[in-house]
Amino acid sequence: MIAYFRDHLGAKLLVSYLAVIAIGAVVLAFASQSILPGSFNRHMTGMGMAFRPGPGGMMGMGGLQGSGPGTMGQLYVDYRSGFNEALTTAGLAAAAAALILSLVFSRGVLAPVQAMSRVTERIASGRYDERVPLSGSDELAQLGARFNQMAEKLDQVETMRRQLIGDVSHELRTPLTAIKGSMEGLIDGVLPASTETFQEIHAEADRLNRLVDDLQELSRVEARSLELQIRPVDIASLMYTVAKRLTPQAESKQISLRLEPTAGLPKVRADEDRAAQVLINLIGNALQYTPDGGTVTVEARPVGDQVEIRVSDTGIGIPQGHLSEIFDRFYRVDKSRSRAAGGGSGIGLTIARAIVEAHGGRIRAESPGEGQGSTFTFTLPAVK
Ligand code: ADP
Repeated sequence: MIAYFRDHLGAKLLVSYLAVIAIGAVVLAFASQSILPGSFNRHMTGMGMAFRPGPGGMMGMGGLQGSGPGTMGQLYVDYRSGFNEALTTAGLAAAAAALILSLVFSRGVLAPVQAMSRVTERIASGRYDERVPLSGSDELAQLGARFNQMAEKLDQVETMRRQLIGDVSHELRTPLTAIKGSMEGLIDGVLPASTETFQEIHAEADRLNRLVDDLQELSRVEARSLELQIRPVDIASLMYTVAKRLTPQAESKQISLRLEPTAGLPKVRADEDRAAQVLINLIGNALQYTPDGGTVTVEARPVGDQVEIRVSDTGIGIPQGHLSEIFDRFYRVDKSRSRAAGGGSGIGLTIARAIVEAHGGRIRAESPGEGQGSTFTFTLPAVK
């Protein structure tokens, strides 16, 4: 019985109503019993019926003389029992009202709570599309709305998780299939055991390696566990360092790599290695997606309390519909083209965006269209 009351909100509500009524009835009984004789006296005096207060004073019964029928004492006893009867009836009526009200109110309070409990159970069993039905605007409705927000977030995370597993398996399958095919060809004697064949297998294994490295890096930046060693960084000299590293790639395609930092550029508050990683990714992409003989320009200028770095190229450009998606994981405008052009996994820009945003900056891509070049712009906070 006690366990039932402990486990049911409706029962607790009923007990609390009954407790309030019981306390009210006790207080009323005590108060009325002490006031009753005085009040009775006043009325009798008002009616011109003389009586003598006893040693108990106005509060006691001693003043009401006589005990037989028709006497003042009998009148008082009748009056008091009538009053007590009314009090008992009122108490019982109040208890019945409490029972009905507790049933009505507890249904109003319990229905959304029970709905939430049911939905939680379903979400826990993997049905992330479940939502609590909302009605009204009280605290319970607000709790329901917050609950639905949380469920929405869980749904998104679950979708991302599934998508990630799908994407990763797809990305792993391609080089693995190539390695397996080459090995089978070698075993069957269809492929010659030449250096070229082994180099092809090696290149695919290399791709697998890069993919695993990229995935590791991605999980680090996406887990927001990126530890940034923030220091004042001279972005112009960082541009030169990165450009020097990428010069062989630019020279092999006769691409002119121009660096144009504004004079007197303020330093930026950044992790130097991470900022270099973003530059390497953007300049590397620009070199990769620009045909031989093109131009890649890297500019830097102060904009408000930030420094804006722009990497523009005269390359293949990005079609309008793809601009918003190229920062998504594994997204490539043209998968076959990207593979042929060096086997990008489509994670580089996702990592670059996570790094820039971890610094409090923004990154965006612009392109007038296919074949008309692209511009990638990112910001880093300037040192004040
Ligand atoms: P990837 O390793 O494939 O280069 P990224 O995340 O760095 O991966 O880039 C995602 C996609 O964005 C690329 O596959 C390519 O389609 C497109 N892209 C990135 N940079 C450029 C650029 N400078 N010009 C044209 N397309 C680009």
